[in-house]
Amino acid sequence: MRVFVASIATETNTFASLPTGLGGFEAMGMRRRAGGHSAAFAPVEARLAQLAAAGAHELVVGLMTFAQPLGPTVQAVWEALRDELLADLRASLPVQAVILPLHGAMVAEACDDCEGELIERVRAVVGPGVPIGVELDLHCHVSERMLTQADLLVAYKEYPHTDVLERLEELWDLVIATAERRVRPVTAVADCRMVSFWHTTREPMTGFVRRMKALEGRHGGDPRVLSVSFGHGFPWGDVADNGAKVWVVADGDHALAARLAAQLRAAVWDMREQTHAAPVALDSVLDALQALPVGSRPMVIADRADNAGGGAMSDSTFVLRRLIERGIGDVALGAFWDLGAVRCCRDAGVGARFALRVGGKCGPASGEPVDLEVTVRAIAPAHTQRGFGGAPQPCGPSVWVSTSSGLDLVLVSERQQVLGTDLFSGLGIDLRSRRAIVVKSSQHFHAEFAPLASAVQYVDTPGLLRIDMENLPFVKRSPHYWPRVPDPWKGHGAAPHGN
Ligand SMILES: [Zn+2]
Repeated sequence: MRVFVASIATETNTFASLPTGLGGFEAMGMRRRAGGHSAAFAPVEARLAQLAAAGAHELVVGLMTFAQPLGPTVQAVWEALRDELLADLRASLPVQAVILPLHGAMVAEACDDCEGELIERVRAVVGPGVPIGVELDLHCHVSERMLTQADLLVAYKEYPHTDVLERLEELWDLVIATAERRVRPVTAVADCRMVSFWHTTREPMTGFVRRMKALEGRHGGDPRVLSVSFGHGFPWGDVADNGAKVWVVADGDHALAARLAAQLRAAVWDMREQTHAAPVALDSVLDALQALPVGSRPMVIADRADNAGGGAMSDSTFVLRRLIERGIGDVALGAFWDLGAVRCCRDAGVGARFALRVGGKCGPASGEPVDLEVTVRAIAPAHTQRGFGGAPQPCGPSVWVSTSSGLDLVLVSERQQVLGTDLFSGLGIDLRSRRAIVVKSSQHFHAEFAPLASAVQYVDTPGLLRIDMENLPFVKRSPHYWPRVPDPWKGHGAAPHGN
């Protein structure tokens, strides 16, 4: 069997002012069909190649690209990438199956549902008999068009997304089984009418992930249940389909899928207050930090509102400024996206000491710049950090600077949320000896940083990704969602427990 694989992905923050351009895709990874290779997609490609080889299938890889989240993608860029992928598909025909590892929350200037449009056009090329399987980030806006045009949608179950390759393997098996007519996938969706944020690293969500898996035939559940997904939604995408949804894929049995989806939606609803992770005021977090006994392992503080992975600029100074005002040192902070500061440090060289203005350059959400007296401790001309699946994430030219008060800052040239501890240690910073580590990341840092932390704190700072779901300035998304209204079902359809 000949299987076509391709991807165009980003998570669009429609409230970000800057558009996503071609440079954003080229910087993070662009693997072209003709002679292409990109380290960013090497783990995905390697896993797919293994799966293909194990089943004696032929893998054909088309365009694969990903951009660090920002505002809506420039329309001409979206159309050019989309058409390149479709041309790759046409050039690869005949194919018996299609796998698309996408995101699910990509928006272009004139398209609110890029994934739906892409799947629809792929369907038009391959026709109705060729199964299309789509892997989605759980921060996706699942649309009717995606559901009707694809045969299978499988979302990551874990946040942080540690199961990208596991879900891809599951999708591969299901798509091949569909192409071989061994299963007939049918999908039922239950809309939760909720806009929130769920961490699967703590209860009750870890238990909910276990429950989803236990229902699946491949994990010992009912063999008719092919796949269960919970799409959390991406709160900062103002599109009509924004919001949390549960969907179940069953083998030919739609009633079974609908029953299970409704049960899981009710479970999500019932645990809404417990799963809501309210951020803590910055000064309260710093009070707790100062109360930590000497010799404790570091506290990890998530500056979640400035997460580049959700479209923020990653140069805000609110935490840095407060640390200085309170005289707190022995803290490592990263990663500040500050091209000018990196350039000044590179030109000055390791060991140079001078006054450097850091951060606060990209708009009101970045706060004011901070003037520091720094020593350049290390320079990496092409720094990287570990991403999920082992793909190195490019940080570009990067530096470590320290202040006399004991603050260690990582400054990078490519906007990156903190994923791997090597973002710091790769430059020589010993994290274990620090009192605290401030990471510009919402939750993906958790996989690598929580094991070395005495505590993980999610701090409430200003910024693009501030947790304030009640007041998100939606225009296209209906206001009938929790927590904006206490009961989004009242007067607007059946209650979540009613079916
Ligand atoms: Zn995500």
